[in-house]
Amino acid sequence: MEERFDCIIVGGGIAGLSAAMVLARADARFLLLERGEFCGAKNVSGGVLWGTDLARLVPDYWEAEAGFERFVNHRRLTLMDETSAFSVDFKSADFDETPYMGLTVLRARFDEWFASQVQSVIDAGSNAEESLLATDILVEELVQEDGRVVGIRTGDEVFHSNCVILAEGVNNLLTRQIGLEPAHVPADHVAVGVKEVIRFPESSLAERFQLRGLSGLTNEFVGYASRGVEGGGFLYTNRDSVSIGLVLAMKDLREKRQKPYDILNDFKSHPVVADMIEGGEVLEYSAHVVSTGDVTAVPERLYADGVLVAGEAAHLLLNSGKAIQGMDYAMRSGILAAGTVLSARESESFDSGTLAAYQQALDDSYLMRDLRSFHSAVEVFHSETMYKKVPDVLCEFGRQFFGIGNEPTPKARDMMKAAVKQHASMWEMAKLGYKAARSL
Ligand SMILES: Cc1cc2nc3c(=O)[nH]c(=O)nc-3n(C[C@H](O)[C@H](O)[C@H](O)COP(=O)(O)OP(=O)(O)OC[C@H]3O[C@@H](n4cnc5c(N)ncnc54)[C@H](O)[C@@H]3O)c2cc1C
Repeated sequence: MEERFDCIIVGGGIAGLSAAMVLARADARFLLLERGEFCGAKNVSGGVLWGTDLARLVPDYWEAEAGFERFVNHRRLTLMDETSAFSVDFKSADFDETPYMGLTVLRARFDEWFASQVQSVIDAGSNAEESLLATDILVEELVQEDGRVVGIRTGDEVFHSNCVILAEGVNNLLTRQIGLEPAHVPADHVAVGVKEVIRFPESSLAERFQLRGLSGLTNEFVGYASRGVEGGGFLYTNRDSVSIGLVLAMKDLREKRQKPYDILNDFKSHPVVADMIEGGEVLEYSAHVVSTGDVTAVPERLYADGVLVAGEAAHLLLNSGKAIQGMDYAMRSGILAAGTVLSARESESFDSGTLAAYQQALDDSYLMRDLRSFHSAVEVFHSETMYKKVPDVLCEFGRQFFGIGNEPTPKARDMMKAAVKQHASMWEMAKLGYKAARSL
């Protein structure tokens, strides 16, 4: 008889590996197919994995030689103009506690480690011979019979399963193949992320960013960082390097005829940023498409007969200015998708009526709730007033407030009025303040 898996997972990124871990722990028979040479080989992320779901999948991960770089206990949000930077800075010993609320990761290392954890659970189970994580395999097509997905095709080979989890990331060709997303994704639903990894000797990195043990800093940047293009920048500390980069709206880049790499170079040579990365050695440069975090980009239905869509393939990502949350959303949706497959296996039904429970579980989870509730925050963050004028106003104010001379000093209120007048109007600022207060 032809082999039939309980589930085939397409993609060995965070969503796919999280689903695989849940299936492996339940001793299900599954196949995960990843097109990269190894899990993580094709992935780009800033990146901070937020939340504590990893501890659900790999309990006490921090005790082993884990695949993360640093835990986050120090956060900074910087608004910059051409010469200055105004920051809000928060550090807390409460964030030193495990399970950590944020981990900086380099995906090539993290995903490979995560895959090895899944493999060891598979090896310890009774289906060790029948479940497989296979790399270097591109899934070219979903196989359908009578309108339901029954497996996948790669090259000349077809593999059958009761259910397929599409965890293929933002370039979701298979999700489009079965019509769960239109063939052409609107340009304002995607952005481009560019990133460099810059190495420093570990001790110099620790001194430079006041790191202790494996503690780490995340710094988000708004304003001049993106040189007038919708988006923002980031700098995250790894063990002996920093990840520095930008996420820029595709549509705005095109309209303003700007090139991401030129903007990244300008960002790196901003006086404040240049001081942070002085003397480092660029190890790698990468670019990747990323969702903008607009809830309206999430397809209406993330399931059909025999198939579920998880992670960024479903545009599950929030970018509200405070952080990018794509990896934790991928993790949680992978967990929920695998949980739905296990329930469907019990009821021996993999039709859309049964798999609809996945969408319900997503709707009830923090991720869809946050995506909906912060929809207007995303709009505020992506408005020109926010990513351009507010940083200009604050930096102007900062120059006056923190600069001390031999002239009579105006009151802070008057300084702020003057700064607003120079870059925007009171009405514009009041409107933004009102919207921000309501949406955040
Ligand atoms: C520059 C940048 C910075 C970011 N920063 C952050 C951050 O700080 N925090 C955060 O949470 N998120 C961040 N993100 C977003 C985050 O990286 C994604 O949301 C997350 O990786 C999505 O996970 P995923 O598993 O859904 O998809 P992916 O990680 O993209 O994994 C999909 C996998 O599927 C494989 N695949 C695709 N098609 C096929 C196929 N047909 N056959 C076989 N394999 C296939 C791919 O090779 C890939 O390994 C950032 C993204 C970028 C680009």
